[in-house]
Amino acid sequence: MTDLAIRSLRKTYGRTVALDDVSITLAKGEFVSLLGPSGCGKTTTLRSVAGFVEPDTGEIVLGGKSLVGLPPYERDIGVVFQSYALFPHMTVAANVGFGLKMRDVSRAETAARVAAALDLVSLARLSERYPSELSGGQQQRVALARALVIEPEVLLLDEPLSNLDATLRSEMRDEIKALTDRIGMTTLFVTHDQAEALAMSDRVAVMRDGRILEVASPERLTELPGTAFTARFLGGRSVLPGRVESDDGGWIFRLEGGPGLLLPPGIAETSPTHVVLRANRLGLSEDGEGLPVRVERAVFLGETRQVDVRAGTAEVRVHLPSERAAPPVGANLRLTIPDGALRFIHDPSAP
Ligand code: ATP
Repeated sequence: MTDLAIRSLRKTYGRTVALDDVSITLAKGEFVSLLGPSGCGKTTTLRSVAGFVEPDTGEIVLGGKSLVGLPPYERDIGVVFQSYALFPHMTVAANVGFGLKMRDVSRAETAARVAAALDLVSLARLSERYPSELSGGQQQRVALARALVIEPEVLLLDEPLSNLDATLRSEMRDEIKALTDRIGMTTLFVTHDQAEALAMSDRVAVMRDGRILEVASPERLTELPGTAFTARFLGGRSVLPGRVESDDGGWIFRLEGGPGLLLPPGIAETSPTHVVLRANRLGLSEDGEGLPVRVERAVFLGETRQVDVRAGTAEVRVHLPSERAAPPVGANLRLTIPDGALRFIHDPSAP
């Protein structure tokens, strides 16, 4: 069942095309992330759904009803902004109840619903505090309660975790995910953080330059990104261009300025243009099988040791377990590529 349908949104600011034919649908209860770099149009998409931005063309339909032309408060949509946007002169309870007051809900019902919403985010005991008396995580929870108290059809979250420190960030990430799952809330989440998108979403829409490039489950995106851009944006991968060549009756993938990789059966027919190598699945050894490579640099990252190696002009990133000693720069080693470490993609427009 489709809950929210965003169809062919286009939005320009002067000569800037913020959204260029953005379409995506969310099923009821689904958690979908818009993931992409700064300026790709994530926030503009979200604000169009919320009603703060009027798209030039396109349609937004929620539960079968068109939202075009409706003001934000008539949209049945809860929004949490990056800045939380709490009213500083109002208590927690008053902040959470604000949307109900605007909707002319009675005092008694407001009190009951505010209490329930604060319970949902475990803040009942802080209801008389002011925002300045709360930690960042608590302010975040108030903003969430304020969005949920109106019992919206859809929850919109715009980078809600980016003002929190690393520990709190992962706690709130898990909390928001558990809460939206528990209440079956249809949620559209905006982030530029791939780990966050992968951890929270049923599906992730990767955006670039005002367009959605691909929509896939976190597992699928991780295992087989559909574009070179996605693979690079996810990180932890080398994405190398090349071309298919015949070799001794079989097929190889010749890296630009580098060696050839044997193509698995059936792959040559898909006309691959890039190979994606997963850094944490590659190995380095001093001798034996594997591509001859030269160590360019090694950086200790805590959990892993990042080693960049060169094969011809192609640079490949390898993540070794951090307990492995750093290979010296300039060392000539062998790069081992197990089956699960490489994927081929067809993306002729990408560099
Ligand atoms: P960020 O992660 O930095 O918030 P984003 O992916 O959310 O980025 P948007 O805020 O949607 O990106 O912006 C998309 C494009 O539209 C950008 O080029 C931005 O400069 C432009 N833009 C957004 N809002 C306006 C505005 N009110 N006036 C002019 N240009 C705008």
